[in-house]
Amino acid sequence: MNSISKPLLQWFDQFGRHSLPWQATYSSPRGGQSKPANIYHIWLSEIMLQQTQVSTVIDYFNNFIQYFPTLKSLAKAEEDAVLAQWAGLGYYARARNLHKTAQIITEKHQGRFPKEFEQVLDLPGIGRSTAGAILALSFNQNHAILDGNVKRVLARVHQVKGHYSQAETLNKLWQLAEFHTPNNRTNHYTQAIMDLGATLCKRSKPECERCPIQQGCQAYQNNTQGKYPNPKPKKNKPTRSIAMLVYRNTLGEIYLEKRPEKGIWGSLWSFKECTDDRQTIEQVVKKFSPDTRIERYLAPIKHSFTHYHLNIRPVLVTCSTNVKKFYSIANLKVGVPAPVKNIIAQLD
Ligand code: SF4
Repeated sequence: MNSISKPLLQWFDQFGRHSLPWQATYSSPRGGQSKPANIYHIWLSEIMLQQTQVSTVIDYFNNFIQYFPTLKSLAKAEEDAVLAQWAGLGYYARARNLHKTAQIITEKHQGRFPKEFEQVLDLPGIGRSTAGAILALSFNQNHAILDGNVKRVLARVHQVKGHYSQAETLNKLWQLAEFHTPNNRTNHYTQAIMDLGATLCKRSKPECERCPIQQGCQAYQNNTQGKYPNPKPKKNKPTRSIAMLVYRNTLGEIYLEKRPEKGIWGSLWSFKECTDDRQTIEQVVKKFSPDTRIERYLAPIKHSFTHYHLNIRPVLVTCSTNVKKFYSIANLKVGVPAPVKNIIAQLD
């Protein structure tokens, strides 16, 4: 297996991105004017880029360093002031972690960003790929990275099966990332593979005809670019089953109770619930009042939440009890969940 680093670095020298604002201070490729890296800028950009595209990050980055030109100024700032400059970029935990990290570095590392991989990894909001990128881009240290762009490129180059949410696939991708990362010019290779993923090996319609590594790319050779990376497997959601007891009095009104604030359908009004088995249903019904009678079972309803499916078996129960919580169906003024509305619609 040949490393993709050589053709990628050649391409990077000509077509890579060399004038991103956070790059202004790191050495330009092949003999260009070399200036020391500003790790504060690189760290900040890497955090901003974790969930956001370069085109959006540029303005936020420029604005942020105007307000907080140094790590020290960031550490001293109020959290609200940091969040205000982050507003609109989303994923605000990133800003809180950035602020926390600046304070940790000030207190524990004498204000200097650590150069040891393990120490960087220990900082809030910095995972293996971000730590590798910061150290590779700032100090040319030999660490692999595996951000979203790199995962996509490597999954296609090697037709890696599975999704990166699966440990086996992720391990395989890390092994490949380490294999391809060269000892020399790690900083430029790191930028090059991110640039390739962002500009040519895009999620849809990759521009393979212009790609410098097409010779070694299995997906290109087999015309399978659309299959890789494999999509995330759909999880089978668990199913829960409950019975909803629809108490109806002689006036045709129904009994509803307010749900707790937390949990599904928080603070809405719903029917009494119990486990969906005949014995439990009969016991609960008897407890409600002595004059209850199970009239019939209504058509079951299936409702889906993000994490599970809910099978609801509505049971119509007649009773003559007239307590305050019976509601007239015609004048129902309380909020009810969709399945409850559905059950009410089944009542004659
Ligand atoms: S040849 Fe196409 S699929 Fe392969 S790495 Fe290049 S752009 Fe991506």
